[in-house]
Amino acid sequence: MNICNPARPNELGQPVCVAQPILAVRLLVVCLQLLLIFAAGTKAQFPPAPGTGPGLPETVEAIENARVTTRILYITAHPDDESASVLTYLARGLHAEVALLSLTRGEGGQNDLGPEQAPQLGLIRSQELLAATRGYGVKLFFTRAKDFGYSKTPEETEKVWGDEVLQDMVEIIRTFRPTVVINGWGGVHTGHGHHQAAGILTPKAVQLAADSNYKLRGSSSVQEDATWGDRRPILLLDVDRGEKPQGYPLPLDDISSLYGKSWREIGLDAFANHRTQGITGFLNSPFLRRPITVKREDGGDFDLASLNEPLGPAR
Ligand SMILES: [Zn+2]
Repeated sequence: MNICNPARPNELGQPVCVAQPILAVRLLVVCLQLLLIFAAGTKAQFPPAPGTGPGLPETVEAIENARVTTRILYITAHPDDESASVLTYLARGLHAEVALLSLTRGEGGQNDLGPEQAPQLGLIRSQELLAATRGYGVKLFFTRAKDFGYSKTPEETEKVWGDEVLQDMVEIIRTFRPTVVINGWGGVHTGHGHHQAAGILTPKAVQLAADSNYKLRGSSSVQEDATWGDRRPILLLDVDRGEKPQGYPLPLDDISSLYGKSWREIGLDAFANHRTQGITGFLNSPFLRRPITVKREDGGDFDLASLNEPLGPAR
């Protein structure tokens, strides 16, 4: 298509005509450019969960995940309490179906990024954790637990949280039906009361989920009241992130043949989403590079095979 301008004739007195792409084509190009920018932006923030993306790695992961029957629930108190490396290794390395349960949404903490506080901060932290868990390749649950700021004791925390939090934990266990529960704060008896309470409530919730006498208040679903863990006990593990961890060391620095990075690196890339927690200044901390171990809460021998059981006859 030519566009001619009679107001600007050439030296022969003829109007100057310039070849112009048809408007529709130009619009299409602009739309495609916007689409590419948008797609790149969303991909950077929310990598696809295992088996849900369009690429070869996601397809390979979907096939591997279908071969593993283990479901793992990792329970913590706040967004950013989780070990990104451990979750990524379990989901993308061992191909288990993994979920993170953060009891609170972290609204009681400090905001290192902007002015939002309290409920608004809880909303932002929910989104940050959602973005992080997509990178780890795990599902996400919350309870109704209020993050009321620093708590000195687990007793104080349990008084504020009441019975609702335990009810929510039982409901999540009965509906997600994990074969393994990782107690993120198991055996921790100092520091923040929320952390200690999470460590105390987790084994209680596992026990109550299997108890047919424990009914959920206001339950409207048969599934919510269907017990879980009574026929086959849930394997309860503690995770040790101390300086000299005791137990079975997880191979978090092994390299993924699909992504060419270690499980720890993939996990920490996603962990960087916790921006309101000032996480970018903390990513090189030795704490995040240490070996991490798991051990059974009942003191029994741990077998790594319990974290990625293959399809086969039911046990
Ligand atoms: Zn915490």
